Amino acid sequence: MKKAGKYFTGLILLLFLAGMSASATDEGFVYSQEGKYQGVEASRSSRRLVKMDRDAVDKDDQVHLDFSVRLAAEVYTTYGLSLRKLEPVTIYPYLEADGLNAHFDPNDNSLNFHVYPTRKGLRYTCHSLDIVTHETGHWLLHSKRPDITTSKRPQTGALNESFGDLTSIFVRACNKIASPSKDSPALCLASDIGECIRDARNTLTIGLLLREQNACEVHSLSRVFTGAMFTAFEESLNSSNVPTRTLNDFARLTWLSFTNVESDSPSLPDVAVLAINQSDLKATRGYLAKSFLQRGILFVTPTKSLACNAFSCSVCDDIIVEKETT
Ligand SMILES: [Zn+2]
Repeated sequence: MKKAGKYFTGLILLLFLAGMSASATDEGFVYSQEGKYQGVEASRSSRRLVKMDRDAVDKDDQVHLDFSVRLAAEVYTTYGLSLRKLEPVTIYPYLEADGLNAHFDPNDNSLNFHVYPTRKGLRYTCHSLDIVTHETGHWLLHSKRPDITTSKRPQTGALNESFGDLTSIFVRACNKIASPSKDSPALCLASDIGECIRDARNTLTIGLLLREQNACEVHSLSRVFTGAMFTAFEESLNSSNVPTRTLNDFARLTWLSFTNVESDSPSLPDVAVLAINQSDLKATRGYLAKSFLQRGILFVTPTKSLACNAFSCSVCDDIIVEKETT
């Protein structure tokens, strides 16, 4: 039964993610065929959200960047994100820097995408829908909670990274965009340019993670929270007769739990508890609770409520985050 259930879950998600075929080249999507991007008319460009030196940026890249940023922002607009209140973000798409990387810089409100060398020549992280929407997720969260996105606490930094990865997943699911790469798992960040930066489909627990080197590095630590959310997402989709309702519920509970959490440096358990409480769906609340318990993020208290214990509350708290990257 377990195997059949797992297969069915994968099938539903695959159908959900594969509803729209995306053309691909070695460097990712083909952008502006006949004035369209991903089947959306180019005239609906998100130019209002994005600033860039349009004389210096390839026209296809401009369309891709405009639309990718808009797709990420639209995931959350129903749940309290106002596009009109956002100060447009500046994009630097061709930064000559160190490798497969990108970053949001809160100091000048910019998204920065690196150019990196490969055996096939130079590659561009700005060409990845996943990477652009991940970085846009940082920008969106920063617009509401700059305290979280600039916190030095590793658990809070991990939440910021998890928010970026979840945003990429929701963009694909909302728009039924499949990974164009046959070689990379669809749930790997940047699989659309043939890379796998992080895989949301993982079975990490906090205990397992802490055996790894650099476990407290924010991107590394984020995998346990993203994995917990993604497992619950898959299980909820599998149990639902209305997948779009489940998807909308997840986008909603993610936005609300990250932006409403009280602490200015929240822990993984702080947001986990809120995520469960923000769901409108009883089944999803159950899947989230099970997932956070299995990952060692939450525990059942003697009074039968869910909370962190001394271990999961303070994971990595003796370390200070110094740097923000992809
Ligand atoms: Zn990031």
